[in-house]
Amino acid sequence: MNRLADRVTGPVLAPRDEGYDEERAGWQTARRHRPDLVVGAAGPADVQAAVAYASGRGLPVAVQGTGHASAAVAAEGGVLITTARMSAVRVDADAGTAWVSAGTRWDQVVHRAAQAGLAPLSGSAPRVGAVSYTLGGGLALLSRTFGYSADHVRGLDVVTADGRLRHVTRDREPDLFWALRGGRDNFGVVTGMEIDLMPVTTLYGGALVFPVEKAAEVFGAYLQWAATVPEAMNSSVALISLPDVPAIPEPVRGRHTVHIRVACAAGGPGTGERLVAPLRAIGPMSDTLGELAYAEAGSIYNDPVAPGAVESGTAMLGEIDAAAVQAVLDLAGPHAPVPHVVELRHLGGRLAHPPAVGNAVGNRDARYLFNVVSRLERADIARIRPAHARMFEAITPWSTGGRFLNFMNGENAATQVRSAYDAADYRRLTDLKAVYDPENTFRLNHNIPPGRGLIRG
Ligand SMILES: Cc1cc2nc3c(=O)[nH]c(=O)nc-3n(C[C@H](O)[C@H](O)[C@H](O)COP(=O)(O)OP(=O)(O)OC[C@H]3O[C@@H](n4cnc5c(N)ncnc54)[C@H](O)[C@@H]3O)c2cc1C
Repeated sequence: MNRLADRVTGPVLAPRDEGYDEERAGWQTARRHRPDLVVGAAGPADVQAAVAYASGRGLPVAVQGTGHASAAVAAEGGVLITTARMSAVRVDADAGTAWVSAGTRWDQVVHRAAQAGLAPLSGSAPRVGAVSYTLGGGLALLSRTFGYSADHVRGLDVVTADGRLRHVTRDREPDLFWALRGGRDNFGVVTGMEIDLMPVTTLYGGALVFPVEKAAEVFGAYLQWAATVPEAMNSSVALISLPDVPAIPEPVRGRHTVHIRVACAAGGPGTGERLVAPLRAIGPMSDTLGELAYAEAGSIYNDPVAPGAVESGTAMLGEIDAAAVQAVLDLAGPHAPVPHVVELRHLGGRLAHPPAVGNAVGNRDARYLFNVVSRLERADIARIRPAHARMFEAITPWSTGGRFLNFMNGENAATQVRSAYDAADYRRLTDLKAVYDPENTFRLNHNIPPGRGLIRG
């Protein structure tokens, strides 16, 4: 350990050391890493030293940005590399790109990009880590319009299991470049990425909130509406049981509600307003729709900022009908409020198209992403887990069998990894894993195990 501490700029902490708990803490508090060593990397050289140290001793390596994911496998032992100190954004306004370091949050990128009249493909929660979000696919607020965030990566710097820092692009180590965009943490620690920014400064967006008693009408109208909207329109519908806390405004505080969230940044002036007219006609109890700066887009979902313990699950769905809505409402409607959020995000549009430079993100044929989330502070895990299991069983007839990596958390995540990928892509990922990480040093994650190693790097 001492020798490693001599070779890195950031702190190297063991469980007995002061600062260890702070260093391993993340947003998600349900499952915490408890590594033998945590290395607070200050730059790529620290990451290289930590990976080489671990590889040389046969120790597994985990990596943590903001800790928003509930790790499929929390590190018990091994080396945890934290990247919060590696937080930097460089925007090239002429090229329409940004260079983003490993520990950067989306809100930092949004802020810098806005100064150049541009926006990244960030998601509902601005404080999520930009790099791991993107490596896991990245379902953005504007993804139906522009595609997955992973579809707009130009280059990556990555430290692989052999301790080498590699710069990979479509032309340089293209197999590794393909695998990292979707395969996330299985091939190395990404220290920075170059991404495209979109020519977006404002959008039309916000939320319509309805009482849960209107859930059947709202879900029915939403599905009919979603089937007709152009790819300029991005949206979701969710049953949300809101806590009775001062942070939630009246009249929705403490209520079981239905939210339709909307983000539209294309199609010309007035497009968003015109498109949402049929939804407004249902008569929401709260309506925040309007023009807003992209930098304010976090207000659309108002995702929680404070750390918390969350149990969640996800499934990709195909077309859904009234029977699917009924199945969901039977289990999460007015009389059964155990899951705190039950959400359908509308997919399709550009998400269904293969990207200009292929990547490992799978399930592009799905029409909806189904998410179920519960806060452990508000209900017992013994009630939450069976309630979630019933939800996913009920929705099975409409499931494509696929899942989205970024929302794949909870108790079964480790066994579900394969479902994030198309079958041939998963085989290619396991072959590439055998080339770049044959000892599975990066296994404290949503793991893709090494295959037979048929591909040469
Ligand atoms: C409230 C909330 C809202 C969300 N909204 C969206 C959304 O709209 N769209 C969406 O796509 N996702 C969304 N997510 C999921 C989120 O994008 C993923 O959980 C993401 O991985 C979080 O990244 P992090 O760095 O913040 O978390 P971490 O827990 O630090 O990292 C997550 C995983 O990524 C890996 N990782 C971290 N850094 C690196 C690195 N430098 N190199 C390689 N691997 C790395 C780690 O192994 C870790 O297991 C949301 C999550 C939450 C909690």
